[in-house]
Amino acid sequence: MPDVIIAGAGPTGLMLACELRLAGVDVVVLERLAERSGESRAGGLHARSVELFDQRGIVDRFLAAGRQGPFAHFSFIPLSIGDLPTRHPYALAVHQSRVERLLEERAAELGVRLRRPAEVTGLRQDGTGVEVEFAGDGGTERLRADYLVGCDGGRSAVRKLAGIGYPGTPATVTALLGDVKLTDPPAGIVFGAEGRREHGSFMIFEADRPGMHRLITMEFGKVTSRDAPVTLETLREACVRIAGTDFGMHSPHFLSSFSDAARQADRYREGRVLLAGDAAHIHFPSSGQGMNLGLQDAFNLGWKLAAVVRGQAPGELLDSYHAERHPAAERMLVSTRAQTALWRPDAQTDALREVFGSLVESEEVNRRLGGACTQLDLRYPMGDGHPALGRRMPDLDIKTPSGHARVFELLHEARPVLLDFSGRAGLRTALDGWTDRVDLVEAECQDEHWTYPVIGEVPAPEAVLLRPDGHVAWAAPTAPTAPTAPTAPTLPTAPAGADAAETADGLRSALTRWFGPPHGG
Ligand SMILES: Cc1cc2nc3c(=O)[nH]c(=O)nc-3n(C[C@H](O)[C@H](O)[C@H](O)COP(=O)(O)OP(=O)(O)OC[C@H]3O[C@@H](n4cnc5c(N)ncnc54)[C@H](O)[C@@H]3O)c2cc1C
Repeated sequence: MPDVIIAGAGPTGLMLACELRLAGVDVVVLERLAERSGESRAGGLHARSVELFDQRGIVDRFLAAGRQGPFAHFSFIPLSIGDLPTRHPYALAVHQSRVERLLEERAAELGVRLRRPAEVTGLRQDGTGVEVEFAGDGGTERLRADYLVGCDGGRSAVRKLAGIGYPGTPATVTALLGDVKLTDPPAGIVFGAEGRREHGSFMIFEADRPGMHRLITMEFGKVTSRDAPVTLETLREACVRIAGTDFGMHSPHFLSSFSDAARQADRYREGRVLLAGDAAHIHFPSSGQGMNLGLQDAFNLGWKLAAVVRGQAPGELLDSYHAERHPAAERMLVSTRAQTALWRPDAQTDALREVFGSLVESEEVNRRLGGACTQLDLRYPMGDGHPALGRRMPDLDIKTPSGHARVFELLHEARPVLLDFSGRAGLRTALDGWTDRVDLVEAECQDEHWTYPVIGEVPAPEAVLLRPDGHVAWAAPTAPTAPTAPTAPTLPTAPAGADAAETADGLRSALTRWFGPPHGG
């Protein structure tokens, strides 16, 4: 019996499987399709997702498969992201099929068991586990595990079987997509606002198959059923309506449709069943966020589920998954709805785009939108304290007893790290009872300030507790408030009367909250 069953081997399911295996969890992935389709919806990774791969020491595989470029935009109003405070201030153009292939290779290296075809059709949970029914080559089978995670896409069977609601807003636009050959292609790519026309918009760019183009049409107020088949003819007709020509399209390879329906699971956990990726949220693919969100869901959930399954942390730790990731996707639904509104083909929207475009020229607006689009600005709600609390740890250069390192290198094994720049023996002692789970790294760092995309510089803490997902779970000293302005950092002052004992108490309570009670405690 595996510890965890994952439904769906898309980017989210594969990433989660890798994270669980890294923590020693026995995991089985059930995938409906007999083999990978090789088709790509997503075309790229944003900076935070690239950082995640860097945190696990596998970023080079993804960099080698893609192309770096300044692709961030808000409804195709370009954002400048080149000076964001990250080692990866770019978008990585890499097709979803390649991301899936690389993740599947990594999953195989780590010993993930992947079964296909295996379509989840039923589930039943009780106090000790979940029994999953699935249809495979040999008919219906059952498998039991401690937990089931539905990473089975926007129409998630797991979500429906678990009775989890999926409220949101319905479609107002129909988009058709085709990877086709063109006998009469435009001279260059037609991307973004260049393709906005009176009756809708179209885009044409290279597909991930040699000699093919990806053609996308979008028409507002024309909502067709998601189940209506997309044919070359329907794509051709839409293209002629919008662009006045079909560019000589023929020999389609991949035809699909999508819409701006935006929905989100009302809860990401129902007992022993959890949801991640498109199973938990869907929205229009404005500025390419869905796959990135799913990867980050998996990164947030993996170490928590592993700790619970291994009996190190109580099941309530899983509630923090909803508390942290639901708001992250919720704000993306707001952003993509706004981007869709800015795309409507009318004179008022043209004016709005012009006004919005001039606002984006302001450095602060650009920084805010860039921070959100790259998801580098995310702060998980962990209460008041040092401004770094809940945010991602920057990949600083540090000096450890074994030599020079980068912070992200400390996270390759997906273990929590207490990173102590203070050299205070008290912190080492406070870690007693957690040394089986948490690594202590005593290091030196030259940086007096850390820089975040939106809030700017914050004073460097003396010590931080890092979760396996690279978010700061505790920082010392504790600053009472967040900084007021990016240009006016305030040094954190230890609260009056704070001493080493208080610091150690604070650390122990964070260790208990995130990594369970102390060994022997
Ligand atoms: C046109 C377009 C462009 C996009 N561009 C971008 C982009 O540039 N960047 C970006 O980040 N996102 C983009 N997205 C969104 C992105 O494609 C999705 O968010 C992403 O695929 C979600 O990954 P997932 O693993 O959660 O779900 P999916 O990719 O849908 O994977 C779900 C998997 O579960 C399997 N499955 C389904 N049902 C079952 C079942 N009952 N049992 C077992 N297995 C099952 C499916 O076969 C599939 O393999 C785009 C989307 C579209 C439509």
